[in-house]
Amino acid sequence: MHPRPDSPLVEKFVVSPNHGARLVGPTDALILHYTGMPTGEAALDLLATEKGGVSCHYLVWEDGRIWQLVAEDLRAWHAGKSFWAGETDLNSRSIGVEIVNPGHDGGCPPYPEAQIAAVIALCRDICARLKIPPQRVLAHSDIAPSRKIDPGEFFPWRRLHDAGVGLWAEPSSIRPGPSYEPGALGPPVAALQKMLADFGYGVEVTGVYDAATQDVVAAFQRHFRPERVDGIADVSTLETLRALQLLLG
Ligand SMILES: [Zn+2]
Repeated sequence: MHPRPDSPLVEKFVVSPNHGARLVGPTDALILHYTGMPTGEAALDLLATEKGGVSCHYLVWEDGRIWQLVAEDLRAWHAGKSFWAGETDLNSRSIGVEIVNPGHDGGCPPYPEAQIAAVIALCRDICARLKIPPQRVLAHSDIAPSRKIDPGEFFPWRRLHDAGVGLWAEPSSIRPGPSYEPGALGPPVAALQKMLADFGYGVEVTGVYDAATQDVVAAFQRHFRPERVDGIADVSTLETLRALQLLLG
């Protein structure tokens, strides 16, 4: 028996055994990933078999085909240890979309047009049906900044936003000015950590610019200021973060 897809955009439902019941709710976040494998077939072999031990709700192929692997009302295993806005069980709270791309290990090949169009259509459909707010359309790297870098700084977040998906503010220009970097101490570092934590990131407000803080700043840049991802809170990074917070009000 074939389960019925949750989205009309799904071409095929390939059932993954890697799922369980959602433990907390509501389902109000959308997490985007790249597969990070040489081929989509290799990724599917992990996502849809017991030995792989991972899964996602949707898989988007390079040519734009969309397959569903786990029903939306079930908990797929894509996020791993994660945190966003006070929640540690992002698998229970989210829909996971894996986008076929070999990722950083594969040289960051651009996402093909057909695939971007399919991701946009799918995200629009999911966000509309589940009422997921723009600020909860997130990268895997946002919710696991010290472990994950997908879907990468080459993922077209701006285009998604232009099509009505996710939060975006035009990044402030990169230029000289006061900046904070690993090793910095004191109230300005605490203020930066507070801003990032208020935005949703899992960072402790310690006033010490430690490795974890650097990872969170890099995750922020990867998503919202992709031109330079170095984990240094430069003027452009700080201004872009402030602009996004203003959008949230
Ligand atoms: Zn991922």
